[in-house]
Parts: sequence; C-alpha cells; structure tokens
Amino acid sequence: QRKEACPVSPSRKLRVATVSLAGCFGCHMSLLDIDEHVFALLDKVELDRSPLTDLKTCGPCDIGLVEGGVCNSENVHVLREFRAQCKTLVAMGACAINGGLPAQRNHLDVGQCLSAVFQSRPGMDTAEVPDDPELPLPLDKVHPIHEVVRVDYFLPGCPPSGEAIWQFISDLLAGRTPRVSYPLLHFD
Ligand code: SF4
Repeated sequence: QRKEACPVSPSRKLRVATVSLAGCFGCHMSLLDIDEHVFALLDKVELDRSPLTDLKTCGPCDIGLVEGGVCNSENVHVLREFRAQCKTLVAMGACAINGGLPAQRNHLDVGQCLSAVFQSRPGMDTAEVPDDPELPLPLDKVHPIHEVVRVDYFLPGCPPSGEAIWQFISDLLAGRTPRVSYPLLHFD
C-alpha cells in the first residue's frame, strides 16, 4: 500500500465514484451494508459516477472504488477514465484484485466460450455469436485492474464486508493510510 494518505481538504465534501466492471455487484451490495454509516458517509462525500447515481461518465474525483476485473474493451475504457479522473483509485474485492470468478475462463479459448454459450446449447445450434459493433469486444483473458492502470490501494474480500469497507473508507476520508484489521478480512 502507498504511504501517503488521500490529499484532501477537510473543508469540502469529497467526490467519490464507484463502478462495477467484470463483477457481480456483490461488492456494491457490501458497500450498502455499511447500514447507518451511510448517513455519516453522505455528510462527507458527494457521489459522482456510480451505479447508485446512474451517471454514465466520471468527473474529477478524490476517490474511485472499482469492483470487478477487466474482461472487455468497455471495461478498459471505463477503467482508464477512472484512473484519469480519480486522485486515489481503489481495487475493491477479489475480482478487481486478481480477476476473481470471471477469470475462471482464462484457461479456455474465448472463441470456444462464446460458441459454447451462443451455439452449443439446446435450441441454439443455428444461432450466431453476436458481433454488433456496439457490443464491447471481449478480451481473450480477464485481467486484474492493476494490469491496466496504476492502483493506489487494494481492499481484499469476496466481497469485503460492509464493516471492512467502512473502516477502509473512514481512514481514507480522514486522510489516513487505510488499514483493515485482520479479523475483517475474509472471503465468504
Ligand atoms: Fe462479486 Fe466477489 Fe467479485 Fe465482489 S469480489 S464482484 S462479491 S465475485
């Protein structure tokens, strides 16, 4: 983890963005599991791009929380936007840190995966693999986000518990290097 803390002024609300790339939204559900702390959080932050705001682009932010790994061209674009706009970028959860469950497909050929999903199932033997140019291009592997952009902090868990997320964010908001106590780190 990086030594210096989030460079923020205590006199203004911090802007925070969140995104789910190749993830299951479980980490975002855990973020909501901070329960009553959400009031304290909203006293201190304004949300930018996030599934919670439905904003589609990210403006300049203090903190970006990224759930999920990178599995397609749109993920790459969104992640680079987050890195460019967020002073502090956090890989939240196992999928962002190491690819997680979506990376299970990494030992398979992506073409064979698409064919198995769209052409090899009962009743789909004449179906085409979708190739509309508006669809994001799948990558041949699912990548952890640090393979695409620089990451400032890693918050492990699948998902990290609400308590772990709250402890982590509280440290960031207070300008401290975030630390999550060991008992809060688990993967169930
Ligand atoms: Fe879902 Fe776990 Fe990945 Fe979070 S780390 S997006 S909970 S699979």
